[in-house]
Amino acid sequence: MFHRIVKPPFLNKLQWIHLGIGVLTISLLVLASVNILFTDDDWRFIIFLFATSITGFAYHQYREQSEGVKNNGVWFGSLTSRGLLAWATALGLTAFYCLLYWWPEYLGLNASGNTGLIALFDPLSMLLKKQAASQWFVYGVFYTLCILCFGYKFLLKYKHNKYQKLRTISVMFFQLFFAFLIPEWMLRMNLPYNDLKNMWPLNYYFFDAWNIESFKSSGGMGWFFLVFGLLMIFVISPSLTYFFGKRWYCSWVCGCGGLAETAGDPFRHLSDKSLKAWKLERFLIYSILLFSIVMTAGVLYTYKTGQAELFGISTAEMRKSYGFFIGAAFSGVIGVGFYPLLGSRVWCRFGCPMAAILGIQQRLFSRFRITTNGGQCISCGNCSTYCEMGIDVRAYAQKGQNIVRASCVGCGICAAVCPRGVLKLENGSIDIFDRTPEKS
Ligand code: SF4
Ligand code: SF4
Repeated sequence: MFHRIVKPPFLNKLQWIHLGIGVLTISLLVLASVNILFTDDDWRFIIFLFATSITGFAYHQYREQSEGVKNNGVWFGSLTSRGLLAWATALGLTAFYCLLYWWPEYLGLNASGNTGLIALFDPLSMLLKKQAASQWFVYGVFYTLCILCFGYKFLLKYKHNKYQKLRTISVMFFQLFFAFLIPEWMLRMNLPYNDLKNMWPLNYYFFDAWNIESFKSSGGMGWFFLVFGLLMIFVISPSLTYFFGKRWYCSWVCGCGGLAETAGDPFRHLSDKSLKAWKLERFLIYSILLFSIVMTAGVLYTYKTGQAELFGISTAEMRKSYGFFIGAAFSGVIGVGFYPLLGSRVWCRFGCPMAAILGIQQRLFSRFRITTNGGQCISCGNCSTYCEMGIDVRAYAQKGQNIVRASCVGCGICAAVCPRGVLKLENGSIDIFDRTPEKS
């Protein structure tokens, strides 16, 4: 007997309206970029339209749906199954990131007075920090808006799941206050710009001479930032990872993770689950970690000794290469630009040196694990499909093995989409030194 695959309904009328508002918003932003528009107050209008299109779309998508997992149609939509829309979005995002990192003048950045898109946000920037906007300020505004608005969408989608709601509220909070408002306010107070939760090696400029000097010359508050940054790296982060696994950072605090979990949610099933991808993941992430350690050692060596080279290599060049290839090209252009093609956690999985360190700690000395009740598993594969880190969760569940993987960010989606309640995220492991080996 054959079953016809029925394509789920696409969008309802109200969703179409909000999609239209979204298209209008993007069109206005493009017009702003080429200097057609605007008055001093139009940034308010743009932000309003941007937020309305996403939250309104989400509200009308989920308001009438009952509690439960809602991934209907992800393999049918052009945007979520690597169709034409996905490619167009990836190209658009990639182009935006290239302009942002390497050609901000085309967005309107100008030392003698901004124009275009950046000038549009000058009034907001003046309001917050009494300085004209930069490309990073505009990026921060949209990044924060995305986490807040798509976070709202995520809250509606997973309204039945307390863990998902709590961690989403957490990333929204940390992005709004720690990553955006507080650092901007610090600039207003003539303090060094500092996102307190953004620690080395994710914050790869933490040990740069200019950053250390800026802390040292900013009095008590500057010294506090410096000492707090060091404590985060060597004490606070390892302790929290011991108790909670890397999820405390990757799924509850980090901005990159926050964007991946909220705006990137529709793409999580696109992560590559193959053994080849897992091998590539381990090679890349530990190579980049090594690169980041060597680069930082070089920068510190130059800072302490005044010598420009370490083992015949220019430390400034090393730092420049790291910033270009890892800080910009990988984490930004590929990491976010390729969401619709490679899934939402490409950077976290293949590139982030912070995730690598937390992963080693999680693997070697953390109480966190995912327990599996193998007898209940019906091998549907939902868990593996929606694991954004490409972990074959089902293989563990079928064997009834605990999952302790360095790459697991503890998002809990595998447990949320399991129809049988097989998976449970726990912190109480007493078998830290006697665990399931890391096998596929
Ligand atoms: S195994 Fe589960 S908790 Fe871990 S990253 Fe995958 S979906 Fe998230
Ligand atoms: S989602 Fe649950 S039932 Fe389905 S394969 Fe995974 S653990 Fe088994």
